[in-house]
Amino acid sequence: MIPVCDVTIGKNELKYVSDAISTGWISSSGKYVQSFEEQFALFCGNKYATTTTNGTSALHLALLAIGIQAGDEVILPTFTMAASAFAICYIGAIPVFVDAEPDTWNIDTDKIEEKITEKTKAIMTVSIFGNPSHMEKVLHLKKKYALKIIEDAAEAHGSEYDGKQISHYADITTYSFFANKHITTGEGGMVTTDNEEYYDRCRYYKNMCFSLDGNRNYLHEDIGYNYRMSNVTAAIGLAQIENIQQYIDMRIVNGRKYIDLLRSIPGIKLQQSHERVKHVYWMNGIVVDENIYGRSRDELRVHLSQRGIDTRLFFNGMHRQPSLKKYGCDCSGAYPISDSLSDNGFYLPSSTSLKLEEIEYVCKVISEYQGGIL
Ligand SMILES: *Cc1c(COP(=O)(O)O)cnc(C)c1O
Repeated sequence: MIPVCDVTIGKNELKYVSDAISTGWISSSGKYVQSFEEQFALFCGNKYATTTTNGTSALHLALLAIGIQAGDEVILPTFTMAASAFAICYIGAIPVFVDAEPDTWNIDTDKIEEKITEKTKAIMTVSIFGNPSHMEKVLHLKKKYALKIIEDAAEAHGSEYDGKQISHYADITTYSFFANKHITTGEGGMVTTDNEEYYDRCRYYKNMCFSLDGNRNYLHEDIGYNYRMSNVTAAIGLAQIENIQQYIDMRIVNGRKYIDLLRSIPGIKLQQSHERVKHVYWMNGIVVDENIYGRSRDELRVHLSQRGIDTRLFFNGMHRQPSLKKYGCDCSGAYPISDSLSDNGFYLPSSTSLKLEEIEYVCKVISEYQGGIL
């Protein structure tokens, strides 16, 4: 079976992990945490980076850092992973959904303004599958309504808009190092920012709200969290970041190859990226137009599976989530683009280490199944 996503481990992961363990530095103090944070900040071109336990806790910290409070509204794409919305709920704030754009599958920036109210405090952009949103329009709204921008770049390490990393455009940006992301620590996350105050607030909240001056008098002014990354995890992260550009470039080559081979198949729709954007192809998704392709999305998935090709469904929009309805989100509007992506889309194999022959094989199976000539 060609998996949807495999991990790529380099030479130094085991070496650094052994070093962390053999020297006894296995908790969240230790040189690998600091080095990983420094290298990640350098890579993103941000002044500050701080590690967390995963991409979801990174979002929670980032929202706390920019001052989101209970009852505040945060606008985000409905077509995203549940963590984006859940982190807003952790604070008691209210996620407000915007439908996707039909071509880029990102938040439809023309539909944000109609959702802004007096309670709106921030816009959360998500670079879906590694494809940054139309930031110029988002920045215009930020200025007009004095909002904060938080970017969920869990799927978008190294992505760019107008030649600058996506984190350049947000007040605060979050990353995930889950096993299927561009670089991984198994589980892990990072928050980056140029704002020292936000950086300090992240470090404060992630460490139980111990005072940052190191004075451990065991008096906590606020309710904190334990979102600290261990030195063992950071050892994997440091080894991964040594190869990050190579891993990103490999995913881009794979993504472009898929586009090359699939774009002429009638009824197979691919994610488009804006010309100002550098898409980093986290996952290669396709959307099946059954009327044109001649087979349904589900038939195609079964067929691929029978030919040894693993696939995964796209996520369901946030407006469809029973959990968020229960929480009290307004899920009543129509989100036809997101619905059509969820109902007709799925991911093809997207590992960093995918071989060219494997991509050619996957595309050949998709093409031949249309004609039914296998
Ligand atoms: C993976 C992902 C997250 C969550 O990251 P975890 O490390 O799994 O907590 C958040 N947002 C998006 C868009 C993601 O793809």
